[in-house]
Amino acid sequence: MRPKIFFSTPFIILFLILVSCQGNSSGTTEVAASLPTVAPTIELPTLTPTITSTPTATATATATPTLTPTPTNTPVVVFATETPTAAVPSGLNVALEERFGNSWWNYDLLAYHIGQGEKRIVVVGGIHGGYEWNTILLAYDLLDTFDGDPTLLPENVTLTIIPSANPDGQFKTTSKLGRFAVEDVSEDTTFGRTNGHEVDLNRNWDCNWEPTGFWRSQPISGGDVPFSETESTSLRDFLLKVEADVVIFLHSAFSGVFPGRCNVDHAPSIELAEIYATASGYPFYEEGFTAYVVTGDASDYLASIDVPAFSVELDNHTSLDYEENLAGLQAVIAAVADRE
Ligand SMILES: [Zn+2]
Repeated sequence: MRPKIFFSTPFIILFLILVSCQGNSSGTTEVAASLPTVAPTIELPTLTPTITSTPTATATATATPTLTPTPTNTPVVVFATETPTAAVPSGLNVALEERFGNSWWNYDLLAYHIGQGEKRIVVVGGIHGGYEWNTILLAYDLLDTFDGDPTLLPENVTLTIIPSANPDGQFKTTSKLGRFAVEDVSEDTTFGRTNGHEVDLNRNWDCNWEPTGFWRSQPISGGDVPFSETESTSLRDFLLKVEADVVIFLHSAFSGVFPGRCNVDHAPSIELAEIYATASGYPFYEEGFTAYVVTGDASDYLASIDVPAFSVELDNHTSLDYEENLAGLQAVIAAVADRE
């Protein structure tokens, strides 16, 4: 902007006067000689500091976790494409959000990580969507309990909670994504069991998979092939990526704890499922779920690849059984933390 002033009308007039007074080429040099009195007012150096100062990357990622945990416990929203490890100050146990995939309707699949220990416990709510909406609210309540509380989790454990593994199904019966209230739940919840593709996501995993599974005596789609659904592949890949030491699936409502089992017993699943059952007070079913034939079950698949897993069935379709499940979860956390 300053150059305009330099060539402003008064200056041009002055220039013309000087040139006309001299009337020869030597006048030019005289004008040039007089320039230094004007030039310093341009003060070009004021421009340079803005270019040279590049304080870009230093303050970025470290800023968010300074949110000190509050009793309201809104999980800190820090999107991370990779599993966050170093972003949280140690000891605070503030939950970090990670998007690990999307649903058939392209809704986010979200996980929340608490703690930084090398042992990993994963809790999965809502794989049966809005039909089992109480498992989603329970998962959020558990998340709120651990979020920001440095005393509840041993240092060598990371707790990862996936509140809603079937956001399409949740949306069908609550018209909400993420957190919702009991009042949001529609009267008829049965249609919220499947994803947007009408597939039962707990009939879509690769253990005894069938294209048509059963929900009690009712046929229900298990997908075109095992892992046909993006929710299933995303969750499987995520669990393998974080190297889960145990995966706990929340269901309702059969009132019991059922270890993953793909045709044969899986001792590590049985052991942890029993610990959860004992602490929570739910009946323990060592032989797994036998009330009716279940194909393509997620916990069964995980057992088949030697990842300890079990399903917890809440007492009914409305209560959260919070105290029971907190006790069960804490017992499993302690058991995993004490391992080699
Ligand atoms: Zn279920």
